Amino acid sequence: MIAATKTKIEPGRLLIDGQWVEGSKKFDTINPATGEVLTQVVEASASDVDHAVAAARRAFEDRSGAWRKMSASERGRLIWKLADLVEKNLEELAELETLDNGKPIFESRYVDMPMVIDVLRYYAGWATKIHGETVNTFETAFTYTLREPVGVVGLIIPWNFPLLLASWKLGPALACGCTIVMKPAEQTPLTTLRFGELAMEAGVPAGVLNIVTGGPETGKAIVGHPGIDKIAFTGSTAVGKEIMRGAADTLKRVTLELGGKSPNIVFADSDIDNAVKGAINGIFYGKGEVCNAGSRLFVESKVQDEFVEKLVARAKKLQPADPLDPKTRLGAIVSQEQMQTVLGYIEAGKKEGAKLITGGNRVSVDGGKGFFLEPTIFGGVGNEMKIAQEEIFGPVLATLTFDDIDQVVDLANRNQYGLAAAVWTRDVKKAHTVSRQLRAGTVWINTYGLMDAALPFGGYKSSGFGRELGMHAIEHYTELKTVWLNLA
Ligand code: NAD
Repeated sequence: MIAATKTKIEPGRLLIDGQWVEGSKKFDTINPATGEVLTQVVEASASDVDHAVAAARRAFEDRSGAWRKMSASERGRLIWKLADLVEKNLEELAELETLDNGKPIFESRYVDMPMVIDVLRYYAGWATKIHGETVNTFETAFTYTLREPVGVVGLIIPWNFPLLLASWKLGPALACGCTIVMKPAEQTPLTTLRFGELAMEAGVPAGVLNIVTGGPETGKAIVGHPGIDKIAFTGSTAVGKEIMRGAADTLKRVTLELGGKSPNIVFADSDIDNAVKGAINGIFYGKGEVCNAGSRLFVESKVQDEFVEKLVARAKKLQPADPLDPKTRLGAIVSQEQMQTVLGYIEAGKKEGAKLITGGNRVSVDGGKGFFLEPTIFGGVGNEMKIAQEEIFGPVLATLTFDDIDQVVDLANRNQYGLAAAVWTRDVKKAHTVSRQLRAGTVWINTYGLMDAALPFGGYKSSGFGRELGMHAIEHYTELKTVWLNLA
């Protein structure tokens, strides 16, 4: 049986100007492991977004208001306090994330929430380290730069790592002194709403963090709003393009973290058993609903048979199960719609002549109506096939073969995306040579998927632009002002 939960889930409201407000329209948020409704949340209207932006603007511009009067050091302490509150409520947040998204509780508890805490603490430290420079120009001038908050930021979040990807944006936004209108994905609003309560408990001043739930229409209202200075978006490439167009009229600053189809390249001289583990982790972690999933596996021909045999044996052991069970490593696909999309890609792979080596089907867990899929591996995939070119965003791996470095670099780069890549080899020179030649924002060597709050993450090509995490994110939440003083 799918485990029952003790977590009490209240219907969602909007957080505007420090107050929780009801909305006129509501929609269901579903538990993908059971297909049942968890609760209802508000579909924020354009007028709700308007109120949220007005509150954020006031909090940003009021020079005698709490936010503007707060020193950088106090801002840092506030962000640290938020991290402490997430830590204190980790179990509840992890369970909410698993219920709403379908990811194994193992991931929510030991990866998502700990990284949320780490990212907040990392940016708490940055609050006091954001500064301009004095620059020597003329004898008769005193010239310096100021790094100022960019203003009101609109944060639009996807459903795959709901609170984690929110923290990647919230951390630098708060550290830089911006104010925020944030929209979680319609599939997974619950942890963001709970985080809003924690922000109030921590003492985040009214209007600094506003949360509006809803779908694409709410997102469009944020993107088009003239009171917002910058949009930070994580989501699909198709929506990223719409956002760029939508933001053009008001010339908002935009950073986009978009889709991926990351190549995972295994050379014959690698530690094969480790590479097999890395390939499994690369595609099946997070049910494959991971922007940097290693969804294109390139195996050197010489070791292809041995590698695929070991790969399939491991994949078969990884069967989907109740996400709340601590032993589960493959959870439920986030929604029925996403499950159908993934099944559509599996059909497309078969039609195009790829060989389905394992998986390919929906499965019932404990006789329930949850959205579970088997781990799926295709062999004999051509690089031009749909399953090798398009982001599936599910537990489906396309395996391809190659014979030399030039060939695999060419194949790996022949894709619209450039988010991440991995190289498995014992040859250091080869590892670095290939890493330089790959057009990707992150390259892992002899590992897959590692992240750290201090290291920038983002894409080349259609995977977007701008970087999140690390010191580079600070640039995207600030403007640079040059000041000239005439000493003559
Ligand atoms: P999505 O693009 O459908 O939705 C993302 C968010 O945008 C949601 O909050 C949604 O409500 C909102 N939205 C939808 N249409 C909008 C519009 N026209 N205007 C404004 N907002 C709009 O993406 P998704 O299905 O939630 O997430 C999956 C995608 O996210 C995948 O493509 C994945 O690769 C990508 N992703 C990228 C990264 C990264 O760091 N590069 C990380 C995670 C996910």
